[in-house]
Amino acid sequence: NPIQTLLICGGGSSEHDVSLRTADFIERQLQDVDDIALTRVVMDANGRLTDSKGGVHFLSQQRQLVAEDGSARDVHYVIPAIHGYPGETGDLQSQLELFGIPYFGCGPEASKTCFNKITTKLWLTALGIDNTPYQFLCSNNGGEAGKATMALQQWGAVFVKASNQGSSVGCFKVTEEEQMEEALEQAFALSPYVLVEKCLKVRELEVAAYTYEGELVITPPGEVCAPEDTFYSYEEKYAEGSRARTFVEAEGLSEAQLGWIHEASKRAFIGLQLKDLSRIDFFLTDEGDIYLNEVNTFPGMTPISMFPKMLANAGHDFSRYLSSLIREAVAG
Ligand code: ADP
Ligand code: MG
Ligand code: MG
Repeated sequence: NPIQTLLICGGGSSEHDVSLRTADFIERQLQDVDDIALTRVVMDANGRLTDSKGGVHFLSQQRQLVAEDGSARDVHYVIPAIHGYPGETGDLQSQLELFGIPYFGCGPEASKTCFNKITTKLWLTALGIDNTPYQFLCSNNGGEAGKATMALQQWGAVFVKASNQGSSVGCFKVTEEEQMEEALEQAFALSPYVLVEKCLKVRELEVAAYTYEGELVITPPGEVCAPEDTFYSYEEKYAEGSRARTFVEAEGLSEAQLGWIHEASKRAFIGLQLKDLSRIDFFLTDEGDIYLNEVNTFPGMTPISMFPKMLANAGHDFSRYLSSLIREAVAG
């Protein structure tokens, strides 16, 4: 009997379309695996599941995917391939925990913690991992907004970030005081909390951290280079004419820097109780300081995405990686 695996993609965030491309990749990886039968559904912003013919389904406590006409099929395993709400935020994983359905990736708490940029920072600090200096704003008025201007004066340039977005959505570089009002307006429209971070002139390094045959693997860092005039924005990440360049292994890092990144990644993976996969992103400044920027609990797996490339570069086969995690989880 094949393992009935439900691939859920889409979701309610600005990363809906990216998630569909991630799901395409996962589907291809599992299509020739004989003991795994994959069913794909798209989740909309209200959590409704639809199949490719538009049929509506729901997930039941009996661990089944139930269609509107009442017909049902068993679900042994779920792949929540959703970036942002309600997958990467941990909400879907909570439901899967409640129903007792094993799934790919991090649990609800790790997902929630890492998706939120402020809780990420609090955890990183608690774990003793350096992260970018920042101010925390919990409302867009009075003294709170004043903190943003002070941060800009102090640091010269800042990043204003909605705390609960990914793919650079709600993320604005501010270098002039007159840009601040608009940036805060837009960031607060997306999130009740906003971070104002010191803008660092940086190289952006990323590692894939994942479990392969029971062992935690931390790859050497890859690098993404945004074009000179901008940062690694949504467009640069996913648009057709993306000018961002990626390198599966960053060049010119010292042994000490590689060691620091490896140790910080391992500490983050274990400390935050991540499971199965993550992409951990770092900033390396011109002065040689390294900061952990963020932990992505469900990184993109589009043709230009770093996670699958780094896994392959480490000599690992994605299909084998995922299918063995599925078999292990289902065997319990
Ligand atoms: P997201 O979760 O949306 O990917 P990030 O925190 O990774 O948010 O920010 C998106 C991009 O913005 C980064 O990849 C980087 O190019 C740029 N960026 C963010 N914060 C800083 C910073 N403090 N200094 C320099 N560049 C930054
Ligand atoms: Mg992110
Ligand atoms: Mg990022």
